Amino acid sequence: MTEASAWGGTVMRRLDDGWCTALNRDTLLCSIYAERPGVCRDYQMGGAECMAERAA
Ligand code: SF4
Repeated sequence: MTEASAWGGTVMRRLDDGWCTALNRDTLLCSIYAERPGVCRDYQMGGAECMAERAA
């Protein structure tokens, strides 16, 4: 479910639709929620960054 980024880090892989491979397309919930990466844990649902992503 991960891949190397252009900067040498490890990131969640995106599918052709541009969304994370771990996202359940039917429920729009994370399918690995209990084991999600730290960056996802730091990302506050409904926060400014979240709302900007949703708007985009
Ligand atoms: S919480 Fe993280 S791992 Fe889960 S679907 Fe969203 S981006 Fe992917």
